[in-house]
Amino acid sequence: MTRIIYVNGRYLPYAQAAVHAEDRGFQFADAVYEVCEVKGGRLVDETRHMGRLARSLAELGMPQPMPPGAWSRVLRETIRRNRVTDGLVYLQVSRGAAPRNFLFPPSGTRPTVVCLARSVSPVEQEVAAKVGIGVKTIPDPRWDRCDIKTVMLLPAALAKEAARAEGATEAWFVDGNGYITEGASSNAWIVDGEGHLITRSTDNRLLRGITRTTLIDLLRREGLELVERAFTVAEAKAAREAFVTSATNIVMPVVKIDGQPIGNGAPGLLTERLRSEFHGAAEIAAP
Ligand code: PMP
Repeated sequence: MTRIIYVNGRYLPYAQAAVHAEDRGFQFADAVYEVCEVKGGRLVDETRHMGRLARSLAELGMPQPMPPGAWSRVLRETIRRNRVTDGLVYLQVSRGAAPRNFLFPPSGTRPTVVCLARSVSPVEQEVAAKVGIGVKTIPDPRWDRCDIKTVMLLPAALAKEAARAEGATEAWFVDGNGYITEGASSNAWIVDGEGHLITRSTDNRLLRGITRTTLIDLLRREGLELVERAFTVAEAKAAREAFVTSATNIVMPVVKIDGQPIGNGAPGLLTERLRSEFHGAAEIAAP
């Protein structure tokens, strides 16, 4: 089956799904994006993801390319045309195509909108979560607006490559004071020796993950205590459990940090419980 990608109002076969060579997303990373999980053909936490998209656009002074109802139709139609039951939907909005110039193009320049959907095997995901992942810590080289979900992902790509070179799956960025900011494409969590769940509080240094927010709802509902504070690499290595959250991995156990086993080197019990209960707290949209 040919994959279909939505580009600027049209659903195009994969090979024809292109944007202009002078698109500002391509030349300046002047673009924002979102990734939503699709589970059983339904969007997970659509409202929160679209809310964050609106915020990212507003922070960069980009207009909303379409009203919420139109977004909702594009997401669903892209999922439907690609027959995705379990997987993800990705959308990106750039400031549009214009002759290369650092200054913004004239107002009225049409934003570039891309939406694509892809299947991900839930069985493979579960197998991966049973094993857990390794992470590598790396100094955080990024700018100070990591709260905006831009496509400026080169530091994340380099960090993940460096992690892979050492047999790890994710990188954890470390700030100048030795504290973990977040994963290259996830938020970082630990459970300390006393069983406290710890994740960094959100500010301009990290992305307010939607999975993070929904997991916090779950914790409140279950009466589990959360400590929102930064933690060091040393604390993480001494933790009882560790995990990452993201829309594509939900709650993924971390079993090694810089090659050192966490806890007994297997996914933690609390981590596994949070993973299995996560969707009970999420918004599962109508198809
Ligand atoms: N931090 C970064 C840097 C990310 O790229 C992501 C994934 N988009 C996250 C955190 C997790 O966010 P979410 O739970 O919304 O997928």
